[in-house]
Order: sequence, then structure tokens, then C-alpha cells
Amino acid sequence: MPFGHDMVHSLATAVDLVNTSPSTGGRDTLTGLRELGDFVARWKISGVGEVSAADLGEVCALREAFHKVFTAPDQPTAVVRLNSLLSRTRITPRLTEHDGHPLHVHYFAPDASLHDHLAADIGVALAHLLVENEWERLRTCSAPDCEHVFVDESRNRSRVYCDSRTCGNRMHVAAYRARRRV
Ligand SMILES: [Zn+2]
Ligand SMILES: [Zn+2]
Repeated sequence: MPFGHDMVHSLATAVDLVNTSPSTGGRDTLTGLRELGDFVARWKISGVGEVSAADLGEVCALREAFHKVFTAPDQPTAVVRLNSLLSRTRITPRLTEHDGHPLHVHYFAPDASLHDHLAADIGVALAHLLVENEWERLRTCSAPDCEHVFVDESRNRSRVYCDSRTCGNRMHVAAYRARRRV
């Protein structure tokens, strides 16, 4: 996929966040401050202090807004949904080279809440994806019992399962068994 490291990281963060939601078929895996703290650590989200119950509520609402962008029926709808999210987000571009990283752009203000941080960085990444006409890469898993979202980074946009090691394998084994039965 012709995207830079920051964009790939932001999209991967979005996928992980959305997939914590029960809207994607499983149980809610972002139910407490410990899970939220794990999420912040997993994605090395910078400048975030102690997370609060208010952060948790805001981030849980945000994952639903991102989910609606992933599951939009067409690109114009995705644009409307993303614009709605962006209009509610304070976006402040700022060059930084914190923690030994090379110079890069943050889209959240230095004092941003966790919600504003994620909404700005992921919102801008999704905006660039739409501008590049790559909206189709935002997918939902094709396995019948899985509604996890993923970003198809394959060259020919052919990926249909959220994770080839789990859902991909499962579905191949099921297809193989079905063939053997006839
Ligand atoms: Zn950074
Ligand atoms: Zn899946």
C-alpha cells in the first residue's frame, strides 16, 4: 500500500480500536480503564497521562463513529460520516520529534484529550485514504461469524478475511471439509 508509516500506524490503531466493539460481532473488549491503558500502551499513544472514566466513554463512542466509516455502503456516505466526525474534532497540526522519532506531524494539540488525539490522527489518516480513492480498502471480514474490520493492504485489493491466520485458515478448512463431504 502506498502509504507512509504514520498512516499505516494510524489505520492499524483504528482497526484495533473498532474491533474492541461488540458492534463487530464479539464481546466488548474495552470495558475498563485497564483495557484502555493497555490499548494506549499497545499503540504507543504519546502524551497520554492517566486515563479516566470520561476518556473511556469518549473513546467507546469514537470507535462507533470510526466503525460507521468502515461500514459505509459507498464512498459518498463514508465522506459524509467522516466529515461529521472531523467537524467535531479539534485539529492542530504540529511538527514534533518526541521520544527519538524522526520529525513527523501530529494532528492533535499538545493538551488534547485521548479522544481528540485519536479522532484527529485517525480522522486525518482516513481522510487521506478517501482522497487517494482507497476507500474500498476499508473492509469487514467475510467469515460468516466474524464482523471484524480490517484495512486491505494487498496490491490487488483481494483480501476478504480480517486475519489470514485465524479467519482465513478457518474458512479454508471449512471449505476443504465441505468438498470432502460430497
Ligand atoms: Zn508522534
Ligand atoms: Zn474475521
